[in-house]
Amino acid sequence: MFRSILPRAAPKSVLQSVRGAQTSFRASNIYFQDRLRRGYASEAEEKDLVIIGGGVAGYVAAIKAGQAGLKVACIEKRGTLGGTCLNVGCIPSKSLLNNSHLYHTILHDTKHRGIDVGDVKLNLATLMKAKETSVSGLTKGIEFLFKKNGVEYIKGTGAFVDEHTVAVNLIEGGETSVKAKNIFIATGSEATPFPGLTIDEKKVITSTGAIALQQVPKKMVVIGGGIIGLEMGSVWSRLGAEVTVVEYLGQIGGPGMDAEISKMIQKMLTKQGMKFKLNTKVMSGDDSGETVKISTEAAKGGKEETLDADVVLVAIGRRPYTSGLGLENIGLETDDKGRLVIDQEYRTKIPHIRVIGDVTFGPMLAHKAEEEGVAAVEFLTKGYGHVNYGAIPSVMYTHPEVAWVGQNEQELKAAGVKYKAGSFPFSANSRAKTNLDTEGIVKFLSDAETDRILGVHIVGPNAGEMIAEATLALEYGASSEDVARTSHAHPTLSEAFKEAAMATYDKAIHY
Ligand SMILES: Cc1cc2nc3c(=O)[nH]c(=O)nc-3n(C[C@H](O)[C@H](O)[C@H](O)COP(=O)(O)OP(=O)(O)OC[C@H]3O[C@@H](n4cnc5c(N)ncnc54)[C@H](O)[C@@H]3O)c2cc1C
Repeated sequence: MFRSILPRAAPKSVLQSVRGAQTSFRASNIYFQDRLRRGYASEAEEKDLVIIGGGVAGYVAAIKAGQAGLKVACIEKRGTLGGTCLNVGCIPSKSLLNNSHLYHTILHDTKHRGIDVGDVKLNLATLMKAKETSVSGLTKGIEFLFKKNGVEYIKGTGAFVDEHTVAVNLIEGGETSVKAKNIFIATGSEATPFPGLTIDEKKVITSTGAIALQQVPKKMVVIGGGIIGLEMGSVWSRLGAEVTVVEYLGQIGGPGMDAEISKMIQKMLTKQGMKFKLNTKVMSGDDSGETVKISTEAAKGGKEETLDADVVLVAIGRRPYTSGLGLENIGLETDDKGRLVIDQEYRTKIPHIRVIGDVTFGPMLAHKAEEEGVAAVEFLTKGYGHVNYGAIPSVMYTHPEVAWVGQNEQELKAAGVKYKAGSFPFSANSRAKTNLDTEGIVKFLSDAETDRILGVHIVGPNAGEMIAEATLALEYGASSEDVARTSHAHPTLSEAFKEAAMATYDKAIHY
């Protein structure tokens, strides 16, 4: 379990703690006193719950709390709801992935299907507009859901004044403050910068710049071959950039990706035109000229090289974001990775302050943040909640997609677990064959003795949808035989899933 268990402080009555807080606040902080006097209507009533951050973790928790009948407010400083995911993450990147894939398909994959296409042109401005339309539709949708569920939306930056009071610097100008019996911190994460390279989101970019470039770069270097780097790299590669990915590790996709699958997707992306430099360390960068020069060295020392690029994408990971939150005013500290430390019920050492999403432990994924939003409210309202951290799927939305859930082969080997492996190629699946889209495999790993599924790893068309079945199987403790004996519609890609399960407990039929 990755959470550290903290001793629980003796519960104070809400009234006691609010009064106590007010006293120390009055005594210690004249600045915030002044802010409170200039407050707005919302400060008049004490909320049951205030959530700082309107990203996936925060907005889901707010809606769930509203549904449970709590008096709830959500503070968001961005001006739109949905956080990184809806504004600059999952959604805009998938819009660009989808449309760049269509463009690439029309350019390179129509002739043998009997479709002759005339002059194909990229209109990057319209491609970006389509992305913005999806984003604004979805973020406005969350505002609608807030209204529907009685959530008060406060647009501004929240900072702790004391354990029950959050001051808000409002976007529209002015300040207010809110008091609450309970507070959730859901402030998310930010891109980790690369030392020595100044991010200007034009020449040296993070994923935020990568979803908004105004022209296709000639040469792009991606520092970091994890999911975000590969997704954004493949968007710009499809649109015509010469993309080189520099990765410190010996495999792409990050350590969670099964090594066999990682090798396969690397080959496929190489075939699509991307270049990879693995086991390679970026030493420094020089962005003073028209292009950016990146100096690299073999990870184990030795071979040096300089890469030249019009645009460098820094994709070396994300770090928890707590800047300006006033944690010092309530004595909360972060660990060495910047994460807020919590117990199994998402509580900090101040029990009525909980933390959910990217800003605390676990994979930085939107669906993980969402699960925590629901569970944290349930812990608050019912005393129990449920998130199975062993069954959180990961998806990389390249083409083909890569998706997995549970443990990979290298993890099982390292843990000394005896397992069986079975796989099935899409090249033997009837639907993949009719779609002329046959690259990839489905691979099951199950316990050698009990056949209980330990992990499922897919590279292939629609892997991101297919992994839901594997996740459900894992959640219910299914065996590969359970899946193999379940009827799957014909002709579908999901038959490859069933056949891989068959290959694990016995033999596949069609391969
Ligand atoms: C390019 C990219 C692609 C991604 N694609 C996927 C994907 O396909 N699938 C997936 O599962 N995950 C994806 N992710 C990760 C996903 O976006 C995050 O895991 C998710 O957004 C985390 O949600 P969160 O609510 O914890 O944090 P966030 O979404 O970061 O939300 C936190 C919010 O808090 C606000 N905030 C911070 N401090 C304050 C404050 N003091 N006062 C008020 N507001 C504050 C911020 O403005 C922000 O809106 C992607 C991320 C990126 C960058």
